[in-house]
Amino acid sequence: NGKVVLAATPIGNVADASARLVNLIEHADIVAAEDTRRLFDLARRLEIHVGGRVVAYHDHNEREKSDSLLDEVEAGATVLVVSDAGMPTINDPGLAIVRRAIERGIPVTCAPGPSAALDALTLSGLPTDRFCYEGFVPRKHSERMKRLRALATEMRTMIFFEAPHRIEDTMADLEEAFGADRHMALCRELTKDFEEIRRDTIGAIRQSVINDPPRGEIVLVVSGASEDEAVEAAGSAVLGVEELAQLA
Ligand code: SAM
Repeated sequence: NGKVVLAATPIGNVADASARLVNLIEHADIVAAEDTRRLFDLARRLEIHVGGRVVAYHDHNEREKSDSLLDEVEAGATVLVVSDAGMPTINDPGLAIVRRAIERGIPVTCAPGPSAALDALTLSGLPTDRFCYEGFVPRKHSERMKRLRALATEMRTMIFFEAPHRIEDTMADLEEAFGADRHMALCRELTKDFEEIRRDTIGAIRQSVINDPPRGEIVLVVSGASEDEAVEAAGSAVLGVEELAQLA
């Protein structure tokens, strides 16, 4: 019987490939890959062969491709869906086929594995009992501040993805939105040879980013607001800063 399997791929260290992923790459009838070259590169590094047909499945075609892939599943095929790195659907393609499979009543499952978001959260040293994933913040300063201000009352640990060439601007905005004293972790090149975690206050990490710009792939993990900070932020949002000052 056919099925759809979304599988996580390594985010740096090829040894993180699960035995299940290896088996699927070798035996799935069709592999839908975000970037087909990346898939063949992974197979080469794993010293295995891609057994089935390979199709490109990315942000720009995932809606239109999903139905034809699911037709093949209905005809008995196993379709493996992989992104460039980490878990499909997490800021990566995959959600469209999951949704269509659910709508059409077609079996869909997951071979879980590496994800930069959870790797960073685990290593941050910040509370993991309640967290939220915020993906990439908007590129434009004004929109980024709007998004970050909306998180001023967020008490859960927050996870952000960021690119190295925007990190300095984003750190300045994090400091403006959450204050210099909030704790955070900057996690870089996870699972790779130059993995590095900087754990400190937002102000100190901002300074370290200026002194020693981090290269490579980055995840930022930021502590949630304390109860006092959240109450204060909620108050200033409702009343406005001037009205609050009059009350004080
Ligand atoms: N689906 C992927 C996952 O589950 O990890 C995330 C895909 S998203 C398009 C790519 C972003 O994830 C990068 O810009 C970076 O912020 C983060 N990332 C991916 N691999 C990483 C690594 N090895 N170290 C740190 N961050 C990483």
